[in-house]
Amino acid sequence: MKVALVTGGSRGIGRACSVKLAEMGYYVLVNYQSNETEANNTLSLIREKGSDGEILRFDVSKKEEVEAAIEQWQAAHPDTYIEVLVNNAGVRRDNLMVWMTDEDWNKVLDTSLNGFMYITRVVLKNMLVKKYGRIVNMASLSGLKGLPGQTNYSAAKGAIIAATKALAQEVAKKHVTVNAVAPGFIRTDMTQDLDESQLKALIPMGHFGNPEDVSEVVGFLASKGACYVTGQVVSVNGGLYT
Ligand code: NAP
Repeated sequence: MKVALVTGGSRGIGRACSVKLAEMGYYVLVNYQSNETEANNTLSLIREKGSDGEILRFDVSKKEEVEAAIEQWQAAHPDTYIEVLVNNAGVRRDNLMVWMTDEDWNKVLDTSLNGFMYITRVVLKNMLVKKYGRIVNMASLSGLKGLPGQTNYSAAKGAIIAATKALAQEVAKKHVTVNAVAPGFIRTDMTQDLDESQLKALIPMGHFGNPEDVSEVVGFLASKGACYVTGQVVSVNGGLYT
């Protein structure tokens, strides 16, 4: 049984990544925070692809929850390990810097950046022991370019990009690759409040992307064939470069 874990797999890009990994033959652990119904819907889509998986509830920003969930799962499955990790869970709390609350700053950093650290640290151990692993981190155009009104989100995603490059060098000799994907505007619940009819003028391709446009790239980076690609950031943004 080849196992992949997708954080925030209940909706949007994380769901598309879960389905893509199922297509690739992975048993997929679908993490979610609160939306059990949608997590189960992702699991149904995984089964429609002829694969299987399970839902795993924990808040990526809570170290104790993350460690307990992974250690319990690993203890129950001593014959296998998580060989693909997609650090996808993330939230937006946009505001201008002068109005930014501590809560909005911390929520975004805690989820994207601390979440990446808590889960990667625990999952990485077995990848190093087994000398094989694929880690894909969901960054953002905001982490490359910076976007006004998103100082918190840009800081979190920029840090994820730097962490990706550092960790990639640290674990390369153990055949563990670490890459980031930087989506532009993708149609999900997270971008529901954005006006595509206006924003599409900024995008050379003239429209927002779909979650599957991102999951195709994640699937490649998670594949065995991507063995010599590490420490990279792949943009999926319809040509909307910095
Ligand atoms: P989304 O539709 O809002 O889905 C967010 C997912 O993250 C949900 O599955 C949610 O779980 C989960 N989640 C949120 N906080 C969590 C936590 N503390 N612990 C565990 N799971 C948590 O978002 P999306 O658009 O698919 O975004 C996915 C990733 O892509 C994020 O990292 C986002 O920053 C990044 N991204 C998105 C875009 C875009 O245009 N959509 C662009 C660039 C980057 P529940 O269902 O349980 O709430």
